[in-house]
Amino acid sequence: MYNDDTICAISTPAGTGAIAVIRVSGRDTVKICSGLLHFRNQGMDLKKAVSHTAYLVNIEENNEITDECLITLFRSPHAYTGEDVLEISCHGSYYIQQRILQLLFSSGIRMAKPGEFTLRAFINGKMDLSQAEAVADLIASASKSSHDLAIAQMRGGYSAQIKELRAQLLEFASLIELELDFSQEDVEFADRKKLDSLLITLKKELNSLIRSFSSGNVLKHGIPVAIVGKPNSGKSTLLNALLNEDKAIVSEIPGTTRDIIEDAIVINGILFRFIDTAGLREAESIIESLGIEKTYEKIRQAKVILYVFDITDIDIEEIKEVIEDFRDHIDDEEKQFILIGNKTDLLVEAPKHFSGFVELETIFISAKRKENIHLISESLLKTVRLKDMNDTATVSNLRHYEALVKTLHDIENTEMGFFNNTPTDLISVDIKSALHHLGLITGEVTTDEILGNIFSNFCIGK
Ligand code: GDP
Repeated sequence: MYNDDTICAISTPAGTGAIAVIRVSGRDTVKICSGLLHFRNQGMDLKKAVSHTAYLVNIEENNEITDECLITLFRSPHAYTGEDVLEISCHGSYYIQQRILQLLFSSGIRMAKPGEFTLRAFINGKMDLSQAEAVADLIASASKSSHDLAIAQMRGGYSAQIKELRAQLLEFASLIELELDFSQEDVEFADRKKLDSLLITLKKELNSLIRSFSSGNVLKHGIPVAIVGKPNSGKSTLLNALLNEDKAIVSEIPGTTRDIIEDAIVINGILFRFIDTAGLREAESIIESLGIEKTYEKIRQAKVILYVFDITDIDIEEIKEVIEDFRDHIDDEEKQFILIGNKTDLLVEAPKHFSGFVELETIFISAKRKENIHLISESLLKTVRLKDMNDTATVSNLRHYEALVKTLHDIENTEMGFFNNTPTDLISVDIKSALHHLGLITGEVTTDEILGNIFSNFCIGK
């Protein structure tokens, strides 16, 4: 999967900009590029360039200037990829970018594959696998909370914790192996008490990381919110009011292969995503035809449910029934219901509280006049436990989560094995499996398939 041939790519977004950055990395970076760059300072050459220092150069073809550029050479190993890296900052016209790329290609440098620079950084030990993945998350982050998660992970996050756990488990695995070598002599090298307590610690730490995924995942991808209620209660008017209130509506992020985020708002740095809003936008007849199953489906996906009702047309029994019904259908304590009494503008005096739902928060608004919409924003924010965000050990990566769940399973099997006096060679299989799964997270264990999956999701030039 890896060789150190020389690669290049445009690292800035596609299109025209004030400047563009073209990145070159590999064994022959200096040798090849030295012939292409004409330094202002006569007698200067890329081979003599000081690392991490900007120089003004001309890039020429057939004695014609293509562009004046600023270049920076990062000499191996003190570079992003660990190899010699050259960054060329040229003027950002599409034409110039393409001319320089063509020149590099014709000099024998090849186009980088998606994520190939970061793949090299990983292979050359500049970062572990979970840090490399955090680079992609950072580029794709669309809110403060997802950015915070990515930064924490890029700076090491829970990698150290995982590596430490794995190191301890590795030590034990080797003691168990030793025992197997001397199996005829019926000796016990591994202190069973110590192993028991290690398993308990491992389970505790794994469980806490696994639990953090439910908040980590929503913080990264946005907290799913469902707006439900009877036809004409004002759901689509409310959705529009919420979306209008927020100026930083997130749209497609160029250069990444992430899903397009639509109908989302950012409140205090946290992304809230309104799920399945297509029905809300279309004709009311469609809303009616969506039916109750569709509503349940929405509620299943949501973390927060806004139940909108028209206060001029209240049927308390019906609302109670609906809520009970929802609760019967969904066994998730973590889901939050917020009742929204809409159309306060139609009453002379807006109700202060709502009898019959003491245990449920009710917010009174006028979606049409955009009154009290901020109360909903505040309420949404309260549904996020702030603790979750400051915790650096928050898992937001599905691949890591799956590896953690598998490790926990292996550890539980190991524990059962000891409990049942299973032969050591069988227990050793579970311990090895735990080591394997834990190693997948930081990349101590990798396969070309895993690396391919991760890095093909990067953008070219990263
Ligand atoms: P949905 O079927 O739940 O999506 O409801 P809509 O948002 O389409 O609203 C149904 C009708 O109620 C529309 O005619 C809206 O203009 C009206 N409506 C929505 N919110 C308010 C409000 O706060 N006050 C008043 N007076 N009318 C509203």
